[in-house]
Amino acid sequence: MRVLAVGAHPDDLEFLCVGTLAKFKEKKVEIFMFYLCNGNKGHFEIPSPELAKIRKKEAEESAKILGAEIQGGIFPDLDIYPDKESRKKVVDLVRVARPDLVITHSPKDYMCDHTTTSKLLVDASFIATLPNYKTEHKPHALIPPIFFMDTLAGVNFLPTEYVDITDFIDIKEKMLLCHQSQYKWLKEHDGIDYVDFMRKVASFRGLQCGVPFAEGFRAYSVWGRIKPKRLLP
Ligand SMILES: [Zn+2]
Repeated sequence: MRVLAVGAHPDDLEFLCVGTLAKFKEKKVEIFMFYLCNGNKGHFEIPSPELAKIRKKEAEESAKILGAEIQGGIFPDLDIYPDKESRKKVVDLVRVARPDLVITHSPKDYMCDHTTTSKLLVDASFIATLPNYKTEHKPHALIPPIFFMDTLAGVNFLPTEYVDITDFIDIKEKMLLCHQSQYKWLKEHDGIDYVDFMRKVASFRGLQCGVPFAEGFRAYSVWGRIKPKRLLP
């Protein structure tokens, strides 16, 4: 099995679904962690080109912990739109990963890079199967089921499926802490400790389903994407 998880920014997957990815990995599932924006505007002091390089390195360090394939940064932050050119680039990413299952942002998340990523993945994962839509890579054979991951802080999101990540909360924290540029900036600039933030959300989702820590998801329930069995670990 192959799972493609796509976040807008280099640290989004760590916040929202990496416990589930770690649980998949334990079941010998191949994991692709992609991010569409290079993270070049996520700081007030470090200039954009330098920041993009730092964030690429941080994302790679994190993915290494999981043994996941990592790719991304094909758009600058806040310069991602659901247009023809972007769609083609994302179709190619899907064709590289050839996923049996896709995880991405909720269409109701809090900012435009997240909602655009969601839209691009929904569209591209369908288009990627069409042989007459030509890109650099071969068409994918399957329209994959999609799960939307939690929104930031769980606002406006009621999960339909939960994954118990109690055994994976430490690896989630370790991977999140690879993103030191964000950890320091959020702490110093906004007074937010994002490890504490992440643990609170995981603990709240756990409370909802009766385990210490969980991640929540919603299935994208449209024709062609629904399967008659549970797919999340
Ligand atoms: Zn983000």
